[in-house]
Amino acid sequence: MMKLPEILKKPRVFVDGQFEELSDAPLFDKVNPSDEASNPSVVLCSQKHVDVLAANSAEAFQSVWRKTPPADRKTILLRVAELLRSRVEHFACLDSLEMGRPITSAQEDVMVAAGFFQYYGETIDKSYGQTAPGAHGYLETQRLVPHGVVLAITPWNFPLINAALKIAPALAAGNCVIVKPSEHGVYSTLILAELMIEAGLPKGVVNVVPGDGKTAQALIASRHVDMVTFTGSSQTGSLVMQAAGQAGLKPVALECGGKNPQIVFADAISDEMIGHIAGFIAFTTMWNSGQVCVQKSRLLVEASVAEPLTAIISQISGSMQVGNASDAASALGPLAYKQQYDRVLTAIAQAEEQGAELLLDGRQNGAGFFVGPTIFTNGKSSPSIWDEEVFGPVLSIETFTSEEDAIALANDTPYGLSASVWTSNLSRGHRLGEELEAGKISIMSRPGPPDGCWAAHSAEPSKRSGFGVEGGMEALKTYSRRKATQFVY
Ligand code: NAD
Repeated sequence: MMKLPEILKKPRVFVDGQFEELSDAPLFDKVNPSDEASNPSVVLCSQKHVDVLAANSAEAFQSVWRKTPPADRKTILLRVAELLRSRVEHFACLDSLEMGRPITSAQEDVMVAAGFFQYYGETIDKSYGQTAPGAHGYLETQRLVPHGVVLAITPWNFPLINAALKIAPALAAGNCVIVKPSEHGVYSTLILAELMIEAGLPKGVVNVVPGDGKTAQALIASRHVDMVTFTGSSQTGSLVMQAAGQAGLKPVALECGGKNPQIVFADAISDEMIGHIAGFIAFTTMWNSGQVCVQKSRLLVEASVAEPLTAIISQISGSMQVGNASDAASALGPLAYKQQYDRVLTAIAQAEEQGAELLLDGRQNGAGFFVGPTIFTNGKSSPSIWDEEVFGPVLSIETFTSEEDAIALANDTPYGLSASVWTSNLSRGHRLGEELEAGKISIMSRPGPPDGCWAAHSAEPSKRSGFGVEGGMEALKTYSRRKATQFVY
């Protein structure tokens, strides 16, 4: 039986190395999306709290973290990774109870989050600046220096992973971090901050300030915040960018939404491969109930193989077990919260009205915010599912007859996060890699093995999906400024 830690039963912030109750802060009430039973409320910090909490981070940066030797910072991050790995069950139940992440997947998330701390811990003593070419008597050093206090605004779809993906590189680059998690995914970030203190992180170096959009805006405007890193929808991303501009041109990195195409060419489909490829497509589309920024929700299939491939995808998707997130047998849990559930149901209803053909209907009755795998053909006829990011287990399928058509259909979106291509034609693979407008492109002739090192992935979104590198060694630059010092001697 999964249980939340006692400390979460009262709404709190995590600041200066400890949990603190804010008696005068409004609360955000929550339910478990699997059964709608009540979940602990979370604090919505307001302007006056933000001023005090952010000042604590600025103080920790000036007095402690910027003076902490790299070797000590490395030890702390590696210890965080180790502690996370020793508490997989404990952390997995937090995201599972709060936003419905199926428990077995939530356990994998903890290992992924630990991997980020391990990876960035190991970069700390391997990251160098440069020197510029110079004549005799001249030396210019170009050091990567931290921004200071980084505000990390995170979404709810993978709460622990999203927090780790920002905290680990920001700390490795020498910054302090204020995390403003989504009000729908707070618990694991609070408990992570507590674990980090246990790992030896000095107090104030990571503070967690729960709240909503207003809280985030107050934090962006705070004079104690030096940089903003954001993951969330493109609409909110543009508000973040505007606010950071008005707050004194603060640097921003934005990881926003996607409407990601997946193109299947007939040359990839043999009798031997069709089932494997269909399974891979079904799994990656429905994973986390489609609440995934890189979900390939637009499937483009070459007309000659569309019928058999679509039939197998539909059959595999329809057999996925949808159920309570705490049940290890559930492949898909519920959607994360009521408004998200309503949004997905509305998109499905609109798609039907707009003329898309419902091949698999995942709508369900009863308690909990469950929607199972849902598939439409003739997808292009419905802007609600073809153009918009649904962020649910909804796949729209369309056919094409030529490579040019496929490229045009795939690029016909304001988003540019990711894209996938199935082909066994090497030249075509390279052409598509060149032509598709997205930050991350997978060209596959067969389903790939499980991802070996998430942390090493490094990509930058394009178009309305944002900008700024996340992941890999390059992320250290996102969280640093290049500072030149010239010596004339
Ligand atoms: P969201 O934009 O609603 O919220 C994201 C965060 O912004 C939350 O912490 C929220 O409280 C905060 N926020 C809300 N209003 C704000 C405002 N006016 N100013 C500043 N901050 C504000 O997104 P969401 O619903 O939490 O997450 C889903 C979205 O996130 C999807 O669009 C998804 O594609 C995107 N996402 C992108 C990536 C990526 O790596 N590109 C990863 C995960 C999720």
